[in-house]
Amino acid sequence: MSSYLIEPNERVKKVLARLEAKGIDLFADTSQKSRQAASSGSRDEFLSRLNALMNAVGGVKADTHVRSRAEQADLYRRKPGLAARPGHSKHEVGIAADVSGNKASIAKMHALAPKYGLRFPMDYEPWHIQL
Ligand SMILES: [Zn+2]
Repeated sequence: MSSYLIEPNERVKKVLARLEAKGIDLFADTSQKSRQAASSGSRDEFLSRLNALMNAVGGVKADTHVRSRAEQADLYRRKPGLAARPGHSKHEVGIAADVSGNKASIAKMHALAPKYGLRFPMDYEPWHIQL
């Protein structure tokens, strides 16, 4: 997803929501990984995979709070090198979480994530997991 140049009206929002429900993201990144994530990406699917992984690992917590565009914009302003640009964060669409736990649990989570169709895409954010 990319930032809207203009805020879409209600009718456009409904069309976008319908497309999104079908797994179609008009603003999807063109990279292979992003396309895969977008095509399989739904919040419910992410949460069920994350729950299964967390049950398998044990002792980890996840912040699955969905960030609004405004919250992401605020975070980006405060941490431009770390936070994704508004419209580019998987947190906004609810298919990312930030996990916490002891070192061993997090390491186990990294090892098992691919088995659950999840990934830790950023080396510099070892706590960030997403579809
Ligand atoms: Zn994150």
